Amino acid sequence: MSKPAFSFEFFPAKTEQGHEKLLSTYDELNKLSPSYFSVTYGAGGSTRSRTLDIVQALCTRGDTGVAPHMSCIGDDKSEIAELLTHYKSLGINRIVALRGDLPSGQVGMGELPFALDLVKFIREHSGDHFRIEVAAYPEMHPQARSFDFDIDNLVNKFQAGADAAITQFFYNADSYLYLRDTLEKRGVDTVAKPLVAGIMPITNSSNLVRFADSCGADIPRYVRKQLADFGDDSKAIREFGFDVVYRLCERLISEGVPAMHFYSMNKVEPNKRLVEALGLTA
Ligand code: FAD
Repeated sequence: MSKPAFSFEFFPAKTEQGHEKLLSTYDELNKLSPSYFSVTYGAGGSTRSRTLDIVQALCTRGDTGVAPHMSCIGDDKSEIAELLTHYKSLGINRIVALRGDLPSGQVGMGELPFALDLVKFIREHSGDHFRIEVAAYPEMHPQARSFDFDIDNLVNKFQAGADAAITQFFYNADSYLYLRDTLEKRGVDTVAKPLVAGIMPITNSSNLVRFADSCGADIPRYVRKQLADFGDDSKAIREFGFDVVYRLCERLISEGVPAMHFYSMNKVEPNKRLVEALGLTA
């Protein structure tokens, strides 16, 4: 069985101290030889300069690929074009293309209201320069009209030029496998256009539950209940969380998952522990 590729996601730090800490996290995780690191972007440009700072710092730090996230909601085409040109000048050749969610209070969807529009715009602007990853939802995007509509949207993003899709996190392997099979039935060649499993390690109970509820990810009852029982026993949460996510990854590997994208939460552990325990490193 071949080992899946793996990558890590960072979010930009808010302070100079956080930025420095993130660089040392990068150094530690980079020793595991991931395929690339991605950096999130606050929709509506809310983290624009901080995303640029960390992307630029990572580009000069090592030769591992860096994939900036780009969102389109609320942004003008000219701002997006400027960013694409800048990323090209930094030698970047991979983008995670998203719609984003507008910060509360901000109105107006802008010139490119959906990720599909952004994928088309990137292809018009930069041809095939960038490998484009888009978002996928094994348990359906919370605002989607229906499961089918959401699948159509993903198929359309592939047809418009996306090269791969990274899933929202999930703890039920069948939801990922169902999505992969459904894409195949809709004519997407998931070998050529892989469905990358988004993996969220579990280290904290309340943040995870809040985040899962807001993005429509399901936390199975046996996980939710035990996390609640552990209260503030962070060691018990970490050990249980490791076990749950390790088993999920093992199952995905046995089902031939092509790649895993770890939502690292800017931490070395438990990402390093999972990658090593799963034998993903070269
Ligand atoms: P889309 O693919 O455009 O879909 C959004 C919704 O609109 C779906 O419900 C879809 O079914 C629906 N839809 C599509 N087309 C139409 C239409 N024509 N009419 C009506 N409805 C339509 N957010 C950030 O702000 N920054 C990040 O860096 C970031 N990184 C992410 C990374 C990953 C791997 C994932 C999975 C999500 C990330 N997000 C990020 C969150 C993401 O931006 C949100 O989930 C957002 O709500 C949807 O983005 P999307 O790209 O999936 O949008």
